[in-house]
Amino acid sequence: MKPLFQTHLVNGHFGDPVVYVDFLFDRRALLFDLGTIRNLPPRKIMRLTDIFVSHTHMDHFNDFDWLVRLCLGRPVTLRLYGPEGFIDRVEHRLRGYTWNLAAGYVESLTLVVTELHEGERGRAARFECRHNFTREAEGTVELPGNVLLQAPGFRVRATLLDHGIPCLAFALEEQRHISVRKNRLAELGLSTGPWLKGLKQAVLQDAPDDTPILLDDGRTLPLGRLRDAIIDVTPGSKTAYVVDCAYTPENRTRIIELARDADELYIEAAFTAADASHAANKQHLTGMQAGQLGRAAGVKRLHPIHCSPRYQDQGGDPVGEALRAFAGEVGMGRLRFEK
Ligand SMILES: [Zn+2]
Repeated sequence: MKPLFQTHLVNGHFGDPVVYVDFLFDRRALLFDLGTIRNLPPRKIMRLTDIFVSHTHMDHFNDFDWLVRLCLGRPVTLRLYGPEGFIDRVEHRLRGYTWNLAAGYVESLTLVVTELHEGERGRAARFECRHNFTREAEGTVELPGNVLLQAPGFRVRATLLDHGIPCLAFALEEQRHISVRKNRLAELGLSTGPWLKGLKQAVLQDAPDDTPILLDDGRTLPLGRLRDAIIDVTPGSKTAYVVDCAYTPENRTRIIELARDADELYIEAAFTAADASHAANKQHLTGMQAGQLGRAAGVKRLHPIHCSPRYQDQGGDPVGEALRAFAGEVGMGRLRFEK
């Protein structure tokens, strides 16, 4: 059964960690982290609606300018999310350019920037091209459950990890999977079309059975009857994204909670277990730790990412190490906390 979205690792295991999430039935896409995105075609970048930035170390944020460059002069709103201090970072990047002609654009790019703090709250501000990207409408926001984005059919929530600085990890959770029994459609004399989108939304919103659903031919039928006849509801898919964090007990607990039972876990395997002390100094995970975390969280598929380029030159296999630990072939038994 197809989920609502497909994920794609943009720069391979050793490049900047960027995961592109494409929605199959909507003209939208999400991005986890904003390091190098030159491997993405501009048409894909221009589908982006929401960008989740773990933290603003350069390899996670350096193509912010390229994103703005491509979307400038387009009537779009981009929502960006990051940790405490993120609004300042976005403002500083924008202030690095001159915008005296920006008000002349007929169409205007708007950036809505939200930062998550401890305590399920944060701050938000907006920057509009037609206002020369000055910082506006800033205020505090409540973010219950650390949910950053709640959209029809899915949500994205975050957890705060310790990387010496706050670093966000994210989970994209499809609420439930709605599929249409195509053979039953035909038997009932109905055809596929845009009306099915309205039906699916009504099911996701738990609308009452007598809610009228408008068909493309102008007829209406009650939601309950259509749902029982042609709709299957199954649990939604889940993808988690975890980078740049020390292997501490608190981080471990938060990662396992966030990624619990995920279909896919993208997780950093920055160093090998042989370099565990170096990983600890840099506040990164080893492949072994990444694999053990994925196994402890019960995820179905592990994607080791953000591996140090040192292993391309000198040998060492953090990806294989992570996958072996995930499969339980190495590092079985209790989880170790290397210092
Ligand atoms: Zn970092």
